[in-house]
Amino acid sequence: MNTMTTKQLDDAYVAHTYNRFPIEIVSGRGSLLYDETGREYIDLGTGIAVNIFGMADDEWIAAVTAQLGKFQHTSNLYYSAPCANLAAMLCEATGMKRVFFANSGAEANECAIKAARKHGEDTKGPDCCNIITLRNSFHGRTLATLAATGQDVFHEKFTPVTPGFLYADTTDPASLEALARDNEVAAIMFEAVQGEGGVLPLPDDFVAEMKRVAKKYDLLLIADEVQLGNGRSGALYGYMNLGLEPDIVTTAKGIGGGLPLGVCMLGERVQDVFGPGDHGSTFGGNPVACAGAVNILSRLTDDVLAGVRERSKMIFDGLTGAPGIKSVTGMGLMIGVETEKPAADIVAACRENGVLVLTAKTKLRLLPALNIPLDRLEKALEVIRQACRTE
Ligand SMILES: *Cc1c(COP(=O)(O)O)cnc(C)c1O
Repeated sequence: MNTMTTKQLDDAYVAHTYNRFPIEIVSGRGSLLYDETGREYIDLGTGIAVNIFGMADDEWIAAVTAQLGKFQHTSNLYYSAPCANLAAMLCEATGMKRVFFANSGAEANECAIKAARKHGEDTKGPDCCNIITLRNSFHGRTLATLAATGQDVFHEKFTPVTPGFLYADTTDPASLEALARDNEVAAIMFEAVQGEGGVLPLPDDFVAEMKRVAKKYDLLLIADEVQLGNGRSGALYGYMNLGLEPDIVTTAKGIGGGLPLGVCMLGERVQDVFGPGDHGSTFGGNPVACAGAVNILSRLTDDVLAGVRERSKMIFDGLTGAPGIKSVTGMGLMIGVETEKPAADIVAACRENGVLVLTAKTKLRLLPALNIPLDRLEKALEVIRQACRTE
C-alpha cells in the first residue's frame, strides 16, 4: 500500500498542467463540499459549470445508476434509447434538427467546425472553409479548437496553429464585415458571454452586426454554449437571451450533470451535412452519460430558470458597488467580479472562510449550482464582500 498522500501522489505522478488549490475534495452534497480534513465549503464553482444541480444529486444518481444496471456502453453501430431520447429532447427544446454526441466541449466544437467547413465547401466551393471567431474567446484545447480560440497566449507554444480561423474584435463590430468580405468564410462562432475571457457579455452592437453580416454573406452562426448553456444563462441557452438563431449550437459541461458529454446540435441548414463515415466517436452518446443528461434536461423547467434569474439578481445586487468591487458582469449564474485586490488573494481569503470561487483572467468567476439555497448563497456573498474590502 502506497503511504503517500493524495497531494504527494498527484504532484509526483500527474502531469503538471493544473495549478491546484491546496485542498482535496472528498465528498459533497448539493452546494456543500468537504475536504480531507472534514472542512465544509460553499461551492460557487460547480466543477466549472458542470454540477448544475450540485454534488451527489439524488435524481441524477438514480437516472445514472438505473442505466448502469442495464448496460454501460455499446458501440454506435447499434441503437440505444438514452442517446435517441436525449437527442429528441434537445431538438424539441431548441428547434435544432439533429444532434451529434461527443465527450467534451472541445470535441463538440470540433464537430461544429467540421460541419461548418463541409457546409461551406458543399455550398460555396472548396476554398470556403474559414471560420470567424472572436478575440478573447475560448473554444477548447484540441489543436483546432485552440486555433479557434482568439487568444494568442494559447497558440504560442503549440505552433503551427491550425489554419482556417480569422479573428474579429468584439469592440470593433466593423471588423466582422471586413473579414467576411475579404476571405472565403463559412461561419461565425461566438460565446454569448465570453467565459474564460473574463465573463464578458457580447456588446449589443456586435450582436446586431453579427446577425447582419451572417445574413449578408450567407454565413452559419455557431453558438458555443459549453459553459453558459443548459439553464445557467436564465434561459435554456444563452443565445436565446440575445434574439439570435444560430445554425449550430454546441454544449457540454452542465448537460452531463457530472459525466463527460459533448453535444453538437445541427439546425435546418446543416441537418444533412454529415453522412455515414463523416464523423464519429467511440464513447459519444454513451448511454450512462445520456441517461443522466435526460434527467438534467427534463428538470430545466421555467421554475428553475426563474430561480436562476432570481439568484443572479441577488448576486448582482449583493456585490455591485460593494467596497473593493469595481464591476460585476455576466449573465444568469455565470458572473465575473472585478476587484481592487488581486483575484488570487480573494480566492484564497474566500477559501479560508469556507467559500470556493474561481477566476477568469483577472476577475473572480462565480458559477454556482442553479438550485443553490438562497440562504447559503447570501452567506457566501457576505464572505466575498468581506474578502474584497481593502481596508
Ligand atoms: C470549457 C469550455 C470549452 C471546452 O470544453 P472541454 O469540455 O474542457 O473540452 C469550450 N468552450 C467554452 C465556451 C468553454 O467554456
